[in-house]
Amino acid sequence: MKKESILKGMEPERVLYYFEEICGIPHGSYHIKEISDYLAGFAKEHGLTFVQDKAGNVIIFKDASAGCEGAPALILQGHMDMVLEKEPENPINMEKEPITLIVDGDILHADRTTLGGDDGIAVAMMLALLEDDTIKHPALECIFTVNEEVGMEGAQVLDVSPLEGRIMLNLDSELEGIFTAGCAGGAEMILSVPAKERKPRTGKLARIHVEGLIGGHSGIAINQGRANADILLGRVLYTIYKNTPFYLVSAAGGNKDNAIPRTADAQILLPEEADMRGIKKLVETLADNISHEYHATDPDVKISFTAEKESSEEVLSFKKKDTRKLIHILQVIPNGLIESDPHIADMPQTSLNLGILDARSETILVDTLVRSSINSQRKMLMDRIFSLAEMVDATVEVRGEYPAWEYNETSAFRDRLVALYEKMNGKKPEISITHGGLECGLLAAKLEGLDCVSLGPDMVDIHTPSERLSISSAKRLWDFVKAAVEELAEA
Ligand SMILES: [Zn+2]
Repeated sequence: MKKESILKGMEPERVLYYFEEICGIPHGSYHIKEISDYLAGFAKEHGLTFVQDKAGNVIIFKDASAGCEGAPALILQGHMDMVLEKEPENPINMEKEPITLIVDGDILHADRTTLGGDDGIAVAMMLALLEDDTIKHPALECIFTVNEEVGMEGAQVLDVSPLEGRIMLNLDSELEGIFTAGCAGGAEMILSVPAKERKPRTGKLARIHVEGLIGGHSGIAINQGRANADILLGRVLYTIYKNTPFYLVSAAGGNKDNAIPRTADAQILLPEEADMRGIKKLVETLADNISHEYHATDPDVKISFTAEKESSEEVLSFKKKDTRKLIHILQVIPNGLIESDPHIADMPQTSLNLGILDARSETILVDTLVRSSINSQRKMLMDRIFSLAEMVDATVEVRGEYPAWEYNETSAFRDRLVALYEKMNGKKPEISITHGGLECGLLAAKLEGLDCVSLGPDMVDIHTPSERLSISSAKRLWDFVKAAVEELAEA
């Protein structure tokens, strides 16, 4: 039985109608068949031409209104998949069961799950636009991609040959009043050092622990000057090794390539004659220096050195050569902010995040995420990682590489939208670029001369169960999108 509508009668009515419809269809990344078929069904029902590819991507076309055939076709774009996250105590199976919507004043959210406003609001707006025959419009080409949240897989494989448009409105941003005009590209790079010859050895076992860091998403927080637990661990290991060479037993820190690691841990095997108190002192002095360096960004950083066992049993450990390789990687990897953007204050241009360190078995693994809003800078930084890998005989696997959507100093399309926004709101929008990823980069790489702008309503805490959408902001965005379509219907 269909649930009763809770958004009925609220504005923007048809947008909220479709939003509620798609919230009734589970549509997490990789579980997109049902929503993809829903979109294809919508096109059939409305007599609109569409393509649905093998991946599930859908493009729906609508001819220009009478008299507007001369205006250039407009592409609108968003992704149909959402991130499935829920509070641990919520028993919902989000892959199979629909989420429950809750309205709280101006805020729309879901019951202890992600809402999927990212990017369901884009899907809903495109459907509301496609069904409406009262809005004057140029030829519309609405792209609904799959699996954006898991490496933009839909946009990667999208066949753009049916598209005529070279102007595009992407609806996958999260702040009203900001026109995004560029985004970083990226690539995950995984370094692996084969370290098969681990051996049981005896000595004094000690543990190093780094904790209390703030961390953050590498697309947003990489330029905040925050500490990276794996890099700090590397400094501690180097300081000890220089004083007293040891065998590494294990090291680990971080669990996502795009998150700054907040804790890291290592076990080392020191020689029987090692001066454990002297080493502890060395680490304490370094820890004091690090606390001083990061007192403003990571006030609770804590580094400890604990002697665990005095000799006796044998412990499986890495060769000294492999131990040194790991220390060298952690010491010289170009981590953090590499270049700032010259156009926009406090905006990173090029960065690297060492997200995962895992040296607990027969491979030493260092997983990093490179980002840059300039394609050649991404390549430059990737080459530095290849060079580093060569120095320590590591192999590199590159995953999910996607191009930047490079900022255009001049854009007639953007200027037209800015003027319209100013006319409607009495103020100019802020032009920004993002260090996160948008599908515009992949699409711009495929569509020669594509001119685009990315917009969105106010949404906070996306990808978490606290995701919230402002309904009034969605209404203002909808009014703007309608006005923009009418404006662009004029050749
Ligand atoms: Zn999104």
